[in-house]
Amino acid sequence: MPQSMGKFATQNKPTRAKANSLQRTRRFLRSSTGFPGRVRPLIDHLLTLFSIPCLLCGQSQRQAASICIDCTRDLPWLPKGCPNCAIPWPLHQKTRCGALHLAFDECRAAFVYEFPVQALIVSFKDFEQLHLGRALSVCLAHGPLRSEQKPDRLVPVPSHRQRLRERGFNPAALIAKDLSHQLAIPLSSRLIQKVNATSPQKFRSRAARLHHQSNPFVLNQAVPGEHIAVVDDVVTSMATVHQVSQVLKSGGARRISVWSIARALPRQTPAGQA
Ligand SMILES: [Zn+2]
Ligand SMILES: [Zn+2]
Repeated sequence: MPQSMGKFATQNKPTRAKANSLQRTRRFLRSSTGFPGRVRPLIDHLLTLFSIPCLLCGQSQRQAASICIDCTRDLPWLPKGCPNCAIPWPLHQKTRCGALHLAFDECRAAFVYEFPVQALIVSFKDFEQLHLGRALSVCLAHGPLRSEQKPDRLVPVPSHRQRLRERGFNPAALIAKDLSHQLAIPLSSRLIQKVNATSPQKFRSRAARLHHQSNPFVLNQAVPGEHIAVVDDVVTSMATVHQVSQVLKSGGARRISVWSIARALPRQTPAGQA
């Protein structure tokens, strides 16, 4: 495990724009194979100057990703599990996935929600380390989503307006935006909104009114026959993505996929205990 991992939040804090600019410069230098041979050492030197340190171990690297190959390999990738709830198989025996009648059809996540992914996500969400969200969404796009069928659009789980004001951004929306760019899938950030239980009914669609008693999400537009991927940062109890999916299905969606950076697993009960 990388030595300097605990320092990532304070040491390596390139802004999103700066990181993008550095990556563009490095891509240009790497692609400059037409330079005369004697210029090549200079190009190599420039590459080291523009290298981006790995977010976890701090070592500079000659690749565009923010997390180096070794550290990426060491992350807690989610093992293959139930296609509906993404809980890995041995643990899945203790879930009641089939009895829950989940409104979404499948769930895909890149990681188990544990260290260091948990720390990366907390830094991303609570300390506004936006480049960490981008690094994790790259892992999701190039990992479990690599062979997935492309949905018609991506819909992030919305934040409540007050939460949005406090934090200044919606983490799920940023992840969805990154996935949209990487996978070339249309993004609909305002298709669904989260409202107070006391919000006026005039802001609700007919489908949303059906769920008014318990569902805080409302749909702003019908989505007949569409395959939609609901994007969230972490899936825990599945209640939130279930409610969002309920609203989308009520609006005519044909199929709902849930895409998440990490999946929190139910606590494993030690052998011999109930
Ligand atoms: Zn590393
Ligand atoms: Zn399941």
